[in-house]
Amino acid sequence: MANKKVTVVRYCKVECGGEKSVWKRYPAAQGKNGRIRPGWVVVNGQPVHCPVGHYELRHYEGRRLRYTNAGDDAQEATNAKERMEWLLAAHVAADNAGVKVVEDDDRKLLRKSAALYIQDRKNQGKMEAAVQAQNVTDEFVAYTGKTYLDELTKEDIYAFHARCRKHGLSDRTVANKHDRLKAFLRFAGVDVKTVMPPRPKYEKKLPTIYTAEKVATLLSVLEGSMRIAIGFGMMCGLRAEEIAHLEWPDVEWSDKMLRVRGKPHWQFIIKDSEQREIPIPDALLNDLQLWRQEHGNARLILGTKSARPNTHILRQFKRFINRVGLNCKVCPGCNSKNKECGEWNLHTLRRTYATTVLRERHDVATVQRLLGHSDLASTMRYLRPAGNKEIHASINAIFAVKPKVSDTRTPEKETIFLFQPSDPVTH
Ligand SMILES: [Zn+2]
Repeated sequence: MANKKVTVVRYCKVECGGEKSVWKRYPAAQGKNGRIRPGWVVVNGQPVHCPVGHYELRHYEGRRLRYTNAGDDAQEATNAKERMEWLLAAHVAADNAGVKVVEDDDRKLLRKSAALYIQDRKNQGKMEAAVQAQNVTDEFVAYTGKTYLDELTKEDIYAFHARCRKHGLSDRTVANKHDRLKAFLRFAGVDVKTVMPPRPKYEKKLPTIYTAEKVATLLSVLEGSMRIAIGFGMMCGLRAEEIAHLEWPDVEWSDKMLRVRGKPHWQFIIKDSEQREIPIPDALLNDLQLWRQEHGNARLILGTKSARPNTHILRQFKRFINRVGLNCKVCPGCNSKNKECGEWNLHTLRRTYATTVLRERHDVATVQRLLGHSDLASTMRYLRPAGNKEIHASINAIFAVKPKVSDTRTPEKETIFLFQPSDPVTH
């Protein structure tokens, strides 16, 4: 019988009382809630903090002990452990089930159906959907312990919701997983009306954008490579990976345009696979000209020292924000060890960009093109209805007491125009 147990260990650098530090593997330490305490290990029964290192999964393949890299993130390592445990269990189950299939081949295997579904997403070129399908079916199959699709009941789905919540997932994430699971079961021919309970409810939050003051504050402190990187996020609405892969020929100096395109030599594909051109505001263009004087010989505009794409822009941005004292100081991120403020991120800059362009009375189709979305629905999700302050200002403008003049032409047309919200989200 195969040993299906998987343990998370941390391969880390340990100080040996003033002597040279050594690299060793220790079991990952758990907190009171049973989750891995990020960066902590157990040495001689005592928790010890070892920030330098990464997680590995320890398991047996037959009689051989194996270690598999599970990355730096404690939560991801936990997920990887669960997936591996499921895989090891599935190997055993598949052997047993293989016999059953022959006997009872009109029943559909849950695991096999999941594999078919994932393959179908891939065949359709929906790579992101394939990854999500893989995650949700892995988790679900591992958790229910059922072999056949026809064994599934509503209780299995409720139990899956409960388990996701127990793992600290937000209501919104649970609802998303519910939708993905439903799509899979429908694909597999399950009567989802009978099996699926109602979608879990969650409170929809308004998308946040940065106020003009906040943007101005950020602009006043940005410097060096951060000024260029965040400039692309703020003034061109780029995604982090797009910024990381920009090369000098992407800048059309004469037209003041930026061309965002895939980079096969870096295995970088644009999301939604659509190239696009974005105007570069003069402020950013000036910064870029200065940056080019010192970094113009490199291939990448913001490459690392070893001339590779910088995949840590977001993390560096958060550290920068902390250094210049712009942390909000109240969010969970600010109160964590790394002091990475949750209020600041590239996504919100991108959303602010989208909303600003739209409020400047450009249409949604233009915003869609600038953001590189293949469908309008994605663009709509980015946009935030006008805030109370702005609406207040427009309503004030309509009802403002105007000094009486002898000429009593009322600017009616104009005021109506002011009142029309330019934001189609509200329609
Ligand atoms: Zn914060």
